[in-house]
Amino acid sequence: MGFKLVCTNCCTSFSVGNDGQDIKNTAKCRTCGKPAHILHHKFKPPKKKAKKEWKLVEILIQNGFDFSSAYVPLIDNKNQFWGNLKVNYPDNLEDVKSFIEYAETFKQKK
Ligand SMILES: [Zn+2]
Repeated sequence: MGFKLVCTNCCTSFSVGNDGQDIKNTAKCRTCGKPAHILHHKFKPPKKKAKKEWKLVEILIQNGFDFSSAYVPLIDNKNQFWGNLKVNYPDNLEDVKSFIEYAETFKQKK
């Protein structure tokens, strides 16, 4: 368990263990000093040169995803909740857009 400190500016990530919880709002990149993001340890950073993938990561972060396991609630035709379906984070821009839109529809219901 733990967290990763991720800088979308340098395209780097560092493991910060459970300290991530404490520095969540003040995290800074160890390389460039810019504000960094604290993500779930399950986050797998793209290769440093994979700029497109890092852009997707940035978009997902900006929309509030921390790369912990993502679940979609399943609702039956009587509008009863009956479970969660685990989903993978999208890896291309088109899917990211629909992923975020889909997530938004659930946020609005709450
Ligand atoms: Zn940086």
